Amino acid sequence: MAATCDFCGKQADGEDLPLTWTTATENGRRRVFCDTCSREHLRAMESKLDSEWW
Ligand SMILES: [Zn+2]
Repeated sequence: MAATCDFCGKQADGEDLPLTWTTATENGRRRVFCDTCSREHLRAMESKLDSEWW
């Protein structure tokens, strides 16, 4: 089963998750982000991390 980006819907070429892709667990659900969305997501996580801790 090819990985699909949960953010933009982009599909990975191979069977496995590419090294540039990342996974995260949010509210118990596994999220997959492609290389492009990973960068965007990391930036978003860093900016909202403070508020999420409260
Ligand atoms: Zn994506």
